[in-house]
Amino acid sequence: MRESDMIDHRRLGRELELFVSDPLAGAGLPIWLPAGAAARHAVEEYVRELERRAGYQHVYSPPLGKRELFERSGHLGYFADDMFPPMRLSADDEFVLRPALCPHHALVFGARGRSYRELPLRVAELGGMYRAERSGVLGGLSRVRAISLNDAHNFCALEQVGAEVAEILRLIREAHAALGVRPAGFRLSVRGPGQRYVGDDAQWARAEELLRDALAGVEYEVAPGDAAFYGPKIDVQIVDGRGRESTLATVQLDFDKPERFDLAYTDRDGARRRPVMVHRSLVGSMERLFAYLIEVHEGAFPAWYAPVQLAVLPVDAGQAGAAADLARRAEAAGLRVEIDAAGSLGARIRDAARRRIPYAAVVGAREAADGRVSLRLRDGRSLDPLPVADALALVGDVVASRTGQLLPG
Ligand SMILES: [Zn+2]
Repeated sequence: MRESDMIDHRRLGRELELFVSDPLAGAGLPIWLPAGAAARHAVEEYVRELERRAGYQHVYSPPLGKRELFERSGHLGYFADDMFPPMRLSADDEFVLRPALCPHHALVFGARGRSYRELPLRVAELGGMYRAERSGVLGGLSRVRAISLNDAHNFCALEQVGAEVAEILRLIREAHAALGVRPAGFRLSVRGPGQRYVGDDAQWARAEELLRDALAGVEYEVAPGDAAFYGPKIDVQIVDGRGRESTLATVQLDFDKPERFDLAYTDRDGARRRPVMVHRSLVGSMERLFAYLIEVHEGAFPAWYAPVQLAVLPVDAGQAGAAADLARRAEAAGLRVEIDAAGSLGARIRDAARRRIPYAAVVGAREAADGRVSLRLRDGRSLDPLPVADALALVGDVVASRTGQLLPG
């Protein structure tokens, strides 16, 4: 297959007007256009709701922080090569663009005294962070310098870690099934030669053992040298259209940051104990996730996060009123809908399919007269005319069930 024939999220992103990369804004700093933003918004809402139901509490924190915060976290000592250089406001006031959300979330835990009753405390945020990637490796959404990460830090007692990691793996599977992510495999990333790590050998051995236990019954490979600088991790790998592997979801154990930030909770017996910090992402960054989703679905997203879910196509001007009424009802039902009235019906049907809009509702004179509509699916199938309420219920059911199919099962 020639490079130009391959499914490339950059080409589809342009054709479907999902995002744009403008050299004036800078390499690796893509701009999400309305269609891409609509799909991303639907995915963000879904992930937030999934997390909320699983006991996560969401916070907001700024993508910029004082230099001292990242000295404390170890990022400036171990990770500075991947960070943008600090910005100096005055001699003793320097700021950095954060390369991770963990330092802020450690401060959330430390904001007041904590009791064992609050554990596991799950702090989640879809937040911005920055990596000083070299311009040569940047491309579309798959490698970027401004990253929007689905992130959380779960503060646990040591004896809770096993169950917590198992539950995170379950959430990862649930989210991936809804989005249509097909993981290439699981990986246990451990220490390797030639890298710098914090923490002692006993901590690392213990963390690795906990992750191996959580992976019992799962097939995985071991990747020496791919651990985070503060601990081993489980990575869920994906493969893009060009066969390149990368990490989407991750679960990481960290004994170090609780030390550095002096985090503690009061245990049942009144003793002050350190929590373990579990870093986890269910779906990775919105950028890498969408680079993958655009390619794996060839732009035809499941209906629940399609940018436009329903195109309303009046056959001619005589059905303008019926089309507007249908669009209003679809909007009121929570669907993303557009009316397309310009040009021949055949051209509009083809255009809706080209834009991967899951449903086109064709309204002719006869349908308008008896309150019906003909649904055409983007895969070419069409349904017999249905009462408008039934057609909207059908689309609404498919969207609500977050299935990858276009008709209810
Ligand atoms: Zn983290």
